[in-house]
Amino acid sequence: MDRVLREEARGEALQRAGGLPRIPLDSKELSDLELIAVGAYSPLQGFMNREDYLSVVESMRLAGGILWSLPVTLSAGADVAGGLKPGDEAALVHEDTVYGIIRVTDKYRYDPEAEARQVYGTDDAAHPGVARLYRQGEVYIGGEVWLVRRPPAEFPAYHLDPAQTRAIIRQRGWKQVAGFQTRNPVHRAHEYLQKCALEMVDGLLLHPLVGETKSDDIPAGVRIESYQVLLEKYYPRDRILLSVLPAAMRYAGPREAVFHAIVRKNYGCTHFIVGRDHAGVGNYYGTYDAQEIFDRIPAGELGIVPLKFEHAFYCRSCGGMASSKTCPHDKGEHVVLSGTKVREMLGRGELPPPEFTRPDVAEVLIRGLADRAPGGA
Ligand code: ADP
Repeated sequence: MDRVLREEARGEALQRAGGLPRIPLDSKELSDLELIAVGAYSPLQGFMNREDYLSVVESMRLAGGILWSLPVTLSAGADVAGGLKPGDEAALVHEDTVYGIIRVTDKYRYDPEAEARQVYGTDDAAHPGVARLYRQGEVYIGGEVWLVRRPPAEFPAYHLDPAQTRAIIRQRGWKQVAGFQTRNPVHRAHEYLQKCALEMVDGLLLHPLVGETKSDDIPAGVRIESYQVLLEKYYPRDRILLSVLPAAMRYAGPREAVFHAIVRKNYGCTHFIVGRDHAGVGNYYGTYDAQEIFDRIPAGELGIVPLKFEHAFYCRSCGGMASSKTCPHDKGEHVVLSGTKVREMLGRGELPPPEFTRPDVAEVLIRGLADRAPGGA
């Protein structure tokens, strides 16, 4: 899919947009608009109509039967939606700037609690994805979209569209490429997964998600700096590609793992790494729920191979990274820290154990967090 308008078509659309009714987008919807337009969400061509939405929520398939695990919807208040009817065009606006145009196919009320239960597996408003769902407008607007202006890229050097990553993969001659999703710094466990995968495939797409995340997640800018240090010092440059995914995090666990895999297929990956509690938050999902969901997808339908990894840790007795599949030693030998604990340590300027995070990476994280802290440099 390529729904980015260019040159005359773009100029003409921008002009037309000036006279159209306006639908405000939040930052998640804006990133979804861009990702639909550049083909990251292929085969989607727009925000979901009622039929696709209900089918995806109910059975993880678009109405036509294609596997798709998360709703991609545009919400609006009844006041905005009231002025629109099928066939109308509307301008898609964020902070007073027009980014796209939608041709409305339908508008429909939805049941947020039902969507929460089916998609997130909980209707608890304390879940960050569910909380966002509950804050939305009460009507969904479906329809094809066109992008008339690129949203500002936070990391232009790493902002590659699917067609660009696919071209680089071809140019490098990689036949098999593993995609790695992350919303965290690359700790030793992440590095272990990535390098195990690299033993089996030709290249790795390190594909951090840099759209909206929870406020207590480490900011994307700090993470990018830490990835750069790691790549320079510890990775074979010719076998790794760093590029960002400007999507918002949903924290939908298993369903989001499938979504992450489909999206990475669109970026050219043949394999996708799924570790423990992928895209999880709190205790909403079982450690391996996000792996097991792939077992229920008929073979061949996904089009990308999930590479499943057990919980990895450094084991003092093994003297290296391991998992319960490879390590016979007692838990007391394992260096395991929660994400929250590590963030607290970094926030206080303390280095986590070197077996957990490489000290040169941790130093970049500590400095980055201090610079961005209120009153920081
Ligand atoms: P996300 O929340 O998007 O899954 P993370 O950065 O927490 O992002 O994790 C990135 C990937 O690494 C996911 O596939 C996750 O399951 C996996 N992962 C993270 N830590 C570990 C670990 N200690 N052992 C095994 N897999 C892990």
